Amino acid sequence: MIYMGHYLLGTYEVFANLHGINVDDFAMVLPEIKARNASIIFDDGLKCHLEAAELCLEKGIDISFAIPEQAVSVPDILLVHKAHLCVAHLEEYKIKSELSNFCEYRVIIDKVEKLGFYKHQDSSMTVKAFKYLVNYSNIDVSNIVESLFSEIKSSFLPINFYMTKLEIQDIAKRGIKILPHGKSHQNLRQLALDNKFVAVDDILESIKFANRYNSVESFVLPFGTPDSVNMAVIEMILSNGVKNIITALPSTNLFSLESVSSLVPRTDLKVLLQ
Ligand SMILES: [Zn+2]
Repeated sequence: MIYMGHYLLGTYEVFANLHGINVDDFAMVLPEIKARNASIIFDDGLKCHLEAAELCLEKGIDISFAIPEQAVSVPDILLVHKAHLCVAHLEEYKIKSELSNFCEYRVIIDKVEKLGFYKHQDSSMTVKAFKYLVNYSNIDVSNIVESLFSEIKSSFLPINFYMTKLEIQDIAKRGIKILPHGKSHQNLRQLALDNKFVAVDDILESIKFANRYNSVESFVLPFGTPDSVNMAVIEMILSNGVKNIITALPSTNLFSLESVSSLVPRTDLKVLLQ
């Protein structure tokens, strides 16, 4: 199971400055994926992945799309992606000063360093702290993200960023699986700790969404790391007819949840490029 959670830098201009994988590099790993008889899951219903999907179909590779329900139902860009766009298009000092106005910047940096968040990424500590606050903390940083995003907002329309309903219908008709990936793409563990009912709704709505296109057996966990899942989340997902929960790590050992046979590890596509 190969996971393509990176932006594809190809013909879709909106994605040009984001961190991602060049379309030529992507095409280069496809023979290996085909030889391994592996399948690819594309993350988040990003428009750029349509181009990648065509390359896979030409090679006869089995693919599916994990799509957050709100990427389609709400005419807005999800918080997780707004943060990426801010990092790509704003001077770093702006992000740093916004974070410093909001919280004890040094405390957050220390925490990110100590816990090892994004330690394999070569981005700066400001970027890591920003992404940590957006994706993993229990602090609501939506105001910071919205304030930063408002500076670049006019360049980015959701319709250019995500696949449209019609495009999803079209790929589903061609036999590509649509998989649930949360409603809002928030960290489900954190959501469940804050409010169990909101987490249940997030999971349920996303399963309903994917079921409109095909019957759902697998759920793709947003983020997928140990900090985004716990037993309560696993039980919530499995009690809604799902058999497999696809996670980020190449191994599930770090979860301390080895006994949970429904957790299916995935391999990041970038591993194949190294
Ligand atoms: Zn995702």
